[in-house]
Amino acid sequence: MSSHTQESKAEKRSTIYTEAMEVFQHAADLIGLDNRVRMELEEPDYEHIFYVTVKLHTRLVPLPKEETAKFTDLGDSELLPDGLEPLLDGSYVFKRRALIGANVQMRDGVLRLKNKGLHKVIPGRPETYKAYRVQHNQARGPYKGGIRYHQDVSLDLFKILAAEMTWKTAIADVPLGGAKGGIKIDPRSLSSEELEALTLRYMYKLKPLVGPNLDIPAPDVGTDASIMGLMLRQYTDGEREHHSLRGVVTGKDTRIGGSEGRVKATGQGLAYTVQEWFLDRGTTPAGSTFILQGFGNVGSNAAEILSGMGSKLLAVNDAGGTIYNPNGIDVADLTEYVYNNPSNLRRTIAGYPKAQVIPKSDFFAIPCDIVLPCALNGEITGPVAETLKCKLVAEGANGPTTPDGDRVLAARGIELIPDIIANAGGVTVSYYEWIQNKRMEHWSELEVNQRLEQAIKSNYRIIRDIARNTPRRTATHNSMRYAIGKVVDMRTAAMVLALKRIEAHYQLEGFSQ
Ligand code: GLU
Repeated sequence: MSSHTQESKAEKRSTIYTEAMEVFQHAADLIGLDNRVRMELEEPDYEHIFYVTVKLHTRLVPLPKEETAKFTDLGDSELLPDGLEPLLDGSYVFKRRALIGANVQMRDGVLRLKNKGLHKVIPGRPETYKAYRVQHNQARGPYKGGIRYHQDVSLDLFKILAAEMTWKTAIADVPLGGAKGGIKIDPRSLSSEELEALTLRYMYKLKPLVGPNLDIPAPDVGTDASIMGLMLRQYTDGEREHHSLRGVVTGKDTRIGGSEGRVKATGQGLAYTVQEWFLDRGTTPAGSTFILQGFGNVGSNAAEILSGMGSKLLAVNDAGGTIYNPNGIDVADLTEYVYNNPSNLRRTIAGYPKAQVIPKSDFFAIPCDIVLPCALNGEITGPVAETLKCKLVAEGANGPTTPDGDRVLAARGIELIPDIIANAGGVTVSYYEWIQNKRMEHWSELEVNQRLEQAIKSNYRIIRDIARNTPRRTATHNSMRYAIGKVVDMRTAAMVLALKRIEAHYQLEGFSQ
């Protein structure tokens, strides 16, 4: 082997993608996955990278302290109050009519906003953002996966997340493949009009790549039902049969074709897996305790549902800080504080008055029964896993535990419900939404949740049977086809289930040439 090849191999081995694929490689070895199928799954089908431009409006950015001296005499400017949109970092973005009829005193591009201090005027300009859509695999059905708006995304991250969608849709046993995409942007740095323009432009460029029978986006970190509404409009705009295209995105508002139960679905699915974990021990979540990382869509809904099952929330960590109350945190009250509080622009748990502030380093060491990581990837590293004092980690986020973290959890006997089953509730209900769109139906929340519960719990039991090597056929599930003759950990077992279901398509349908 030439030194060049050795070098590039070593380089390749060190990427986060290769690390994230360790479980895939391990499970593929265990089941003797067909080599060509392995190659099909090792890399995505398509990696799309493109650029989206958007016209940023004029904004007012707080003037750095050291530059304020020469403006002390500058009087207040009175801009039209609803002509400015405040952003989290203290900037303001102009809406069209901010200056009309306003009393403006400006010097060297600086003005003073009444009660808000000196700001520099940054004139509007176009900006370019890097955008992605990775389509990993479509052996089982159309590509499927969320759209992430976040400043820290990369091609490698989207490759991991897209592959993870392929495993997840197989485990959930929905006839879909795996994809993921998004834009490298902190969505909180844009005004709502700019975010709308960016989303429309993103879908304009994405349009040739997606479709209700081809690739179906959904919400993920930094996007929500309103972003899906914009994507739907841009995709269907001008199409003669646009109502038949509603299934091009899922996670829509229920009033425009979204499914009941979709917003809560990921948290709901997570709670069902935790409930099943307790049932296996002859008990229920009632009387247990949990700590939660992330109070976004997944975390806040999982917390609400689990506390409804009688489990007590002791602490929450999010990007803004960490709060702790040994007597329990009232989830409904915390949700009010975070989501129905206009002064809490960041939508953070930080500053919640009915709990004490603790450092993040103490958070994971809080004694409890369940740890719910529901934020970003890579949070439970080896050293963090050493500090945990819980019985169970149930992964609401995608990839929250690193391979090192996994090894430590296993060595310490802490049990794990891996992400690809724990958070599969979201994409499962996305599938229900897609069917409803195709059939022009609207199911009740009860019907959605009954189906979800049955699906998540039976697939969870199959994974547990694979892990324990106890193949069974019961009234609710059948794991006969999947056990591999030896005991494995839960993450490997979940991957075994995914790979066996995907491999069946290649075995029975063959490869298109
Ligand atoms: N973004 C969610 C996930 O990671 C949902 C994807 C979907 O519904 O397509 O599972």
